[in-house]
Amino acid sequence: TLLLAEGKQTLYLLPEIALTTQLTQRLQAVFGNRLGIYHSGINDNERAEIWLKMLSPQPYEIIIGARSSLFLPFQRLGLVIVDEEHESSYKQQDPAPRYHARDVAVMLAFISGAKTLLGSATPSMESYYNTQTGKYGLVTLGVRFNGSLMPEIAIENTRELRRRKKMKTVLSPKTIELIHSALEECEQVILFRNRRGFSPMITCNQCEWTPKCSRCDVSLTYHKSNKQLVCHYCNSTYPVPNQCPSCHQDSLVPMGQGTEQLEEEVTQLFPACRVARMDMDTTRGKERYEQIIEDFQQQKIQILVGTQMLSKGLDFDHVKVVGVVSADSLLNYPDFRSHERGFQMMTQAAGRAGRKKTPGTVVIQSSDPENPIYSYVKTNDYMGFFHAQLKERSLFHYPPFYRLIRVVCKHRDRTKVEKAASDYAELIKRSLQGRVLGPNKPVVDRVQLQYIREILLKLENGLSPQKIRDILKNAEEKLRQETDLRQVTLYYDVDPL
Ligand SMILES: [Zn+2]
Ligand SMILES: [Zn+2]
Repeated sequence: TLLLAEGKQTLYLLPEIALTTQLTQRLQAVFGNRLGIYHSGINDNERAEIWLKMLSPQPYEIIIGARSSLFLPFQRLGLVIVDEEHESSYKQQDPAPRYHARDVAVMLAFISGAKTLLGSATPSMESYYNTQTGKYGLVTLGVRFNGSLMPEIAIENTRELRRRKKMKTVLSPKTIELIHSALEECEQVILFRNRRGFSPMITCNQCEWTPKCSRCDVSLTYHKSNKQLVCHYCNSTYPVPNQCPSCHQDSLVPMGQGTEQLEEEVTQLFPACRVARMDMDTTRGKERYEQIIEDFQQQKIQILVGTQMLSKGLDFDHVKVVGVVSADSLLNYPDFRSHERGFQMMTQAAGRAGRKKTPGTVVIQSSDPENPIYSYVKTNDYMGFFHAQLKERSLFHYPPFYRLIRVVCKHRDRTKVEKAASDYAELIKRSLQGRVLGPNKPVVDRVQLQYIREILLKLENGLSPQKIRDILKNAEEKLRQETDLRQVTLYYDVDPL
């Protein structure tokens, strides 16, 4: 408000999904037509109107928006706020420009002489490291919003329970008991399940055949509700075969435990209450998403099952129990950030439990409960987690000590893409030497008929970005001199997520 009085503008960035919720309504009620909302959900006319108003003598004083609002024509920018700065959805992956909205926001503020405020209960390693080195200032809020109490966090050892044949369903007996007691007190429950690398599939229980996309090298996801197989990379759909195409038996069965299956099991376990599911598939439309949120707030729904999109900035007053089902899948993903993401997800999930008066309970089901990450989660020890992670990052040459650049080569012809990738790697190794890793086959090595090879650069802080760019561009030019490789797509992802 102080800034507004000085006639300065404020940009308030939020992850896309959070824009459709309570916060925007609250802010609009306060600021009325001095506030503009800008995100991918608005149409071209609205977009043009906002642009024109921003260029007019009376521009919006506050813009609340998704990452694309960074490019609006601000005239007197005074403050940039990046809320939930740890969110990976701030990074635009495809198509180019591949940028991280948080980093662009910091630069935009610097250029405009504005201040930046990054907000998060679980800051990214990079941002928190910057506060430790003095690059950023740090303001800590010691109390939880609304002064609500910290929940009790319990870790359930599903490996042991399975060994003792106590896991009759995907939920442990203790989780079920906690849900029962919450429901008896007319309180609510949220169950999280990670989506990444954990999609429901079908498989042959005789020969282990699984259906794959014919255009991409990935297993298809099984959608029970409309009996379809879907490729989550190119959106192709396929019918479910009646027989196994490989061994010709009626032996195809669903496997994996996605949110859909979790919802089904929960409905069977608690037939008296209303269960709703919220994930990418049920909430493609904005209205549907808002409807579920509203129903849950009004307690028309007792149990909400969903992926981590649930944890984004939503406040519910009657959530007594939060369950994280198969937390391991968060941590086992082959990515140096998987522990950071796992910690963030579990901590944010815990934040949804017991908002007012009574403390809630968070139950985390894991088959690897000895993993040290759980003790940090249990004691809400961000600092402990941060320093342990920092050691590993330093040891294995990862951010925040090193900057990564991912070089991606793509082509329909596998031999061509392989040659291009290895030639390119050789060229840049001449000057960058051991900083060049690969070429490698990524986890998914063919998408939409294009084969993919990747080269990873680990560059210690302090190297000149200008020099690195020259090296990469020169290598690309040399590569293009070979007629055969001219058509290979080559792109760079700086600071990949
Ligand atoms: Zn596909
Ligand atoms: Zn088979």
